[in-house]
Amino acid sequence: MAALAMAVLPAMAATRGPADVDGARIRAADHEPQNWMAVGRDYDGQRFSPLRGIDRANVGRLGLAWFADLDTYRGVEASPLEVDGVLYNTSAWNITTAYDAATGKVLWTYDPKVPPAYGRKACCDIVSRGLSVWKGKVIIATLDGRLIALDARSGQPVWSVDTFAGEPPWPYTITGAPRVFDGKVLIGNGGAELGVRGYVTAYDTQTGRKLWRFYTVPNDPSKGPDHAASDSAMAIAAKTWTGEWWKYGGGGTAWDAISYDPRLKLIYIGVGNGSPWVAKFRSPGGGDNLFLASIVAVRADTGRYGWHYQETPAEQFDSTATQPMILADLKIRGRVRRVLMQAPKNGFFYVLDRATGKLISAHAFVPMNWATHVDMKTGRPVETKLARYGVEPVLLSPGPGGAHNYNPMAYSPETGLVYFPVVQSFFSLAAAPSWTPAQGGLGTSYAGYEQLRKAQAAYGDAHQKAWLTAWDPVRGKAVWTVPYPRDGSGGVLATASGIVFEGTVNKTMAAYDARSGGKLWESDAQTVPVAAPITYSVHGVQYLAVNAGWGGGLAHVQANSFRDLHVSPARLLVYRLGGTAQLPPLAPEQAPPPPPPYVRAPEAVIQKGAALFAKNCALCHGQLARGGIKDLRRMSPDTSAHFDDIVLGGARQKQGMASFADVLSKDDASAIHNYLIARANEDWGEMNIKK
Ligand code: CA
Repeated sequence: MAALAMAVLPAMAATRGPADVDGARIRAADHEPQNWMAVGRDYDGQRFSPLRGIDRANVGRLGLAWFADLDTYRGVEASPLEVDGVLYNTSAWNITTAYDAATGKVLWTYDPKVPPAYGRKACCDIVSRGLSVWKGKVIIATLDGRLIALDARSGQPVWSVDTFAGEPPWPYTITGAPRVFDGKVLIGNGGAELGVRGYVTAYDTQTGRKLWRFYTVPNDPSKGPDHAASDSAMAIAAKTWTGEWWKYGGGGTAWDAISYDPRLKLIYIGVGNGSPWVAKFRSPGGGDNLFLASIVAVRADTGRYGWHYQETPAEQFDSTATQPMILADLKIRGRVRRVLMQAPKNGFFYVLDRATGKLISAHAFVPMNWATHVDMKTGRPVETKLARYGVEPVLLSPGPGGAHNYNPMAYSPETGLVYFPVVQSFFSLAAAPSWTPAQGGLGTSYAGYEQLRKAQAAYGDAHQKAWLTAWDPVRGKAVWTVPYPRDGSGGVLATASGIVFEGTVNKTMAAYDARSGGKLWESDAQTVPVAAPITYSVHGVQYLAVNAGWGGGLAHVQANSFRDLHVSPARLLVYRLGGTAQLPPLAPEQAPPPPPPYVRAPEAVIQKGAALFAKNCALCHGQLARGGIKDLRRMSPDTSAHFDDIVLGGARQKQGMASFADVLSKDDASAIHNYLIARANEDWGEMNIKK
């Protein structure tokens, strides 16, 4: 079938315009394996390619066919798409480019000019996880909330809508990929760390007209129903909340995974964590807080509620069900089941019946200390005391970075295995003694400089483990694993030729034998490809394409692990057998600047700076200022000299560092500056901090 489709393609392509993709083509994606037309290749999102041109015997000859500089050091998490010889890609700040997929020639570029101030609202970098194509349009969703349809031929906007319209002016952002199905395009958003109310909206792909909106958490009950598609669902959800959660939004953002089953005509929405994190502050009388950390099925035509399954009731460690979902037919106990699979942050691998939402199995894929197991009678996790942490700090595993995060996983129907990156880590969490919405933030307490340092020493790099797993979803266990020195490896692609491709935290692209995990090929990428690769073919030549751009949420949350990475700017890398293109040499690593002069401010100032940093800066610049988007212990003399201009004056707003003058005074900025100087001296100074 595949050979036949390839043979007829050129004629078909000649009569088609660019990106002329509809639901019938995506549903029949196996009949044109040369194309990668949807985020996860097809609606099942298996990221499994039928192509066999690159196989286990010849994969060692893979080399770069071409590459494109993406002109950023920020994270690039998107999978590109490829349709009829054109590759569509989106990078940091949603800059979108169409390339000749065989040669890399740029056909057009579109810059939506996202206001850089939005960088401050993005908890987890200014990334995009992808784009969609539909009937001659390329549809992107921008960090600042616009859904834009571009003419696939010219890259010019056809329509643009503000997906935040109609909502309070909350700090929403979008990092997820829009999904298309049946003439509709669906998009959610992020922002639960800053206090928002989650929702997804369906728009008409041709006109951008709003069709329906589904909220993921209830509104203030005194306001009555939303008059939205989710009204019946909100009646269910409202019974699981207490207090005045709506004042801070409640959270539940759908910031990444959305899937579609065209036979059942159901959309699956992965819902995120609560606003704020600490459950008793958003819902003081208890309750499960639906639909936080849940998968919700809604009817594709109307957006009305179908079913839900909550993975982490009353979550309070940034537990999300937004991780990628894979739909597959699995033979379980002698019976073929239509399942939905997910390996979310909380560390359990879930297999659900996707028609009913009934839990089929939930097995831990990582050692964890927040729960012992999932009770199969109730479908609920059996928690340890740590999951309900109070003001005493606990070291929770998995932490907010998750045991598995946004990195796409792949399923091979030939091996029956699911492949995805796993991390085992610990994170220090404590509830604040008290909290009000006016305070903002997560409701957690800054556990104190000393406590954080102890936690890092006890459970920092030395105790973190990371690996690629090949998971048997029927037996609920790993079949093989490939260990990595630390967290950060990328998304996964599987092929019919028995290969699993993954970008690694060792700054390489690698190929593994899908059955054994044996390494077949590895190539220097000069940076960490955190995104997932795709594969396609043009004129019978198979290509492997991946965005390689280190950054994103892990780089922020678990920054302590990455302080020594020395990476190139982000690039789109495209490989083929016998490819001979060469990356320019990696610029020599710069020695860290010498620690700033030892100017030890009074201890009270350092402690004040530490607390302010934890509240305002750590999300992007790392706990204890280790790493993150920019390692501030390695502040240049120029940055140091202009510290106030940057932090209060917004001098580097164009690079995504917005002014914090609305929340920090000059004294505050000075305390943070002194804290950073102390941190640099502490880690590298000849004079260690003396008590
Ligand atoms: Ca979150």
